[in-house]
Amino acid sequence: MKLETVKTDITVVGGGLAGVCAAVAAARLGQTVALVNNRPVLGGNSSSEVRVWVCGATAHGTHRYARETGIMGEMFVENQYRNIDGNPYIWDLVVLETVRAERNISLFLNTDVHEVEAGGDEDERAIRSVTGWMMGSERRIRFESRMFLDCTGDGLVGFLAGAKYRIGREARHEYNEEWAPAAADDITLGSTLLFYTKDAGHPVKFVPPSFAKDIAKTTIPMKRVIRSGDNGCAYWWIEWGGELDTVHDNERIRDELWAVIYGIWDYIKNSGKFDAENMTLEWVGGIPGKREYRRFIGDYVLNQNDIIEQRPFEDRVAFGGWSIDLHPPQGMYSTESGSKHLHPDGNYHIPFRSLYSVNVSNMLMAGRDISASHVAFGTTRVMATCAVMGEAAGTGAALCVQKGVTPRELYRRHMKELQQIMLRQDASIIGLANEDPLDLARSARVTASSVLKRIAVDKPAEAVRMTADVGILFPVDPHLGRVELLIDADRATVIDVEVRDTGRPENYVPGSLQAKASAAVDKGEKQWVAFDLGWTPERPQNAFLIVKANESVRLHHSDDPLTGTLIFFKGSAPVVDPSLESHQPAQPVVQWRMNRKARRPFCFRVGPETRAYEADKAIDGYHRPYGAPHLWASEPMRAGREEWIELDWQREVEAAEIHITFNDDVNEDLINLHHHRTPFEIVPELVKDYRIEAWADGRWTVLHRERDNRRRKRVHVLPAPVRAGRMRVVVESTNGCPRAEIVEIRVYAERNVRN
Ligand SMILES: Cc1cc2nc3c(=O)[nH]c(=O)nc-3n(C[C@H](O)[C@H](O)[C@H](O)COP(=O)(O)OP(=O)(O)OC[C@H]3O[C@@H](n4cnc5c(N)ncnc54)[C@H](O)[C@@H]3O)c2cc1C
Repeated sequence: MKLETVKTDITVVGGGLAGVCAAVAAARLGQTVALVNNRPVLGGNSSSEVRVWVCGATAHGTHRYARETGIMGEMFVENQYRNIDGNPYIWDLVVLETVRAERNISLFLNTDVHEVEAGGDEDERAIRSVTGWMMGSERRIRFESRMFLDCTGDGLVGFLAGAKYRIGREARHEYNEEWAPAAADDITLGSTLLFYTKDAGHPVKFVPPSFAKDIAKTTIPMKRVIRSGDNGCAYWWIEWGGELDTVHDNERIRDELWAVIYGIWDYIKNSGKFDAENMTLEWVGGIPGKREYRRFIGDYVLNQNDIIEQRPFEDRVAFGGWSIDLHPPQGMYSTESGSKHLHPDGNYHIPFRSLYSVNVSNMLMAGRDISASHVAFGTTRVMATCAVMGEAAGTGAALCVQKGVTPRELYRRHMKELQQIMLRQDASIIGLANEDPLDLARSARVTASSVLKRIAVDKPAEAVRMTADVGILFPVDPHLGRVELLIDADRATVIDVEVRDTGRPENYVPGSLQAKASAAVDKGEKQWVAFDLGWTPERPQNAFLIVKANESVRLHHSDDPLTGTLIFFKGSAPVVDPSLESHQPAQPVVQWRMNRKARRPFCFRVGPETRAYEADKAIDGYHRPYGAPHLWASEPMRAGREEWIELDWQREVEAAEIHITFNDDVNEDLINLHHHRTPFEIVPELVKDYRIEAWADGRWTVLHRERDNRRRKRVHVLPAPVRAGRMRVVVESTNGCPRAEIVEIRVYAERNVRN
């Protein structure tokens, strides 16, 4: 046996997506990090050992423009390219390579941390070290650091350090939460094992093990959906243990889950009710995916009202959008729906104060053990949300080390700096703009080769009958005059439309009425019908146009998506069986669905010309849609003509590092495993080939040329700083989009990249 000591600035325990993003974030800021995970693979519940698909704020397309950016966003986009079929082992590689790319991270797999050395009073404790056992290597490793992150999910590190925590459900009165029970209890969400099946191409028999449960004697066949051919997360409802202790009873829970899985498979194979003769088991999980255990108490406890009211905390550092998704305590044996959902109207915010311990002064946390009530945890627990919290906690930990402060002091004295660094690193903090004083681009005058000025989708594909209201969202900047729709009418009729705002800039639901109009249309096909709608909002924002149902009328879809515009269908059928998911149909985001048609807009035209895509939008501070697209878009590119965007300082500046953020369409719901397939490997709006040029000695000089880009954020460190009064990014080609689009350009005189 070997005894070792590892000294780093920061130790992150737990290599789920929260821990991975925390470690990467801190490492990218120059801190040394030990990332310690007790399994041989990273990714936690998303790994090939558990196979939960990574969900986040998009909520499978329920929220618009909601996909995460930053480190989680990079992994989504990379996985989309490498792993469009959602192979769990390829996903493992994407996560592993994200970590291995960081020289500042020392990765310790198979290392189970179970000892913590901490001292201090109950209210002011500090961790000195954590110690783990590396299985298979007989190495006992002590990790010493200034800052520790508990990303274990179960919260063992904090528990051993004496951090205050909670298990179970708070009473309703504690945070005035409508969805909390009247009295507090120790009920949690249960754990789950998943399984994969495949068609062997020939008959395969199945002899159930002696411990398989006869599920025909349970309520499962009546109350849950069982289909031959379903895999993995389609069986998320095989959940049990909510009334037990999900950690201490883990083995017992696993045995019950196995009994039910093999019972379900026996039912599928041998009951005669399924066409499953050739089907066989391909993989059965062995490590229960745990949903819930300890939740640490931080300086703030996030609760249901914060989520539903989308409270814009001044210390917000992350966002979510998944519904509050609670399951019955009896799990798979419950006769209630497997889950009930309450949605906010758009993305909600997570404060930094929920990411550090109230009484352990050098411990931050991210993932499912953050400071949230049981009800709020019902949404924050999804993994892309855990990941963005991880990035925030890791960035916070790095700043704490750099400044020699505690997380609480960081919150009190350096919050703005933390938020600005996160934005610079491409993390999203909804509604917060770039105010980085070191970013030279902010003071430049910006022009472009061309600018998209007409909002128009005018190449029709198939037509659909208007059996229900539909919505079209587009930016108004500064004035909306007329909207035209391409319409087929079976008879002469009148079509009614109305324009509503969206309430908050981050929401994509109809708000207050701003204008309405009606237009008479004759019988006929492909007629452009105009509606005069005068609206000049106080500041540029999105319009939500509602076209009222009219059975005599058809609208035309197009195959040409237009950035900044969306379509919606009102009140269409729920996408999932109500026995598995109970949603509230009157909630606006449930009512107005995209039905995976966001890239198939209706043909429509808007007048007058818009300023929404002007070149200066690339330095307006926002790097994701927020009441507007916030990007520069050129006119459709023409063969032989490059598009460019230019920064002109009218004086010489020195540039050492150039950041370019391309449009990876954060509306597109990307996923790590097999949930759905997106037709392209690379988001078409991402620029493919480009170069960066500086104006010197009366001509453009190429500073950098990039080929085959498929990423959203690119940081180019120049070999040597360059002095120039003008710089430009020349777009040579895209990954399929007809327009050149750039979300943000930043220019720095000093290098930020540290590793
Ligand atoms: C069946 C199931 C279905 C779910 N459905 C979804 C879904 O569809 N989409 C979604 O996004 N989320 C879903 N969730 C929730 C989500 O998986 C969890 O909330 C999320 O994984 C939490 O992330 P985390 O990084 O905090 O923890 P985890 O993913 O649990 O990762 C924690 C990591 O820490 C390691 N670890 C733990 N203790 C130690 C220790 N002492 N020493 C070293 N390492 C340690 C673990 O091995 C693990 O690798 C589901 C969960 C379950 C179980």
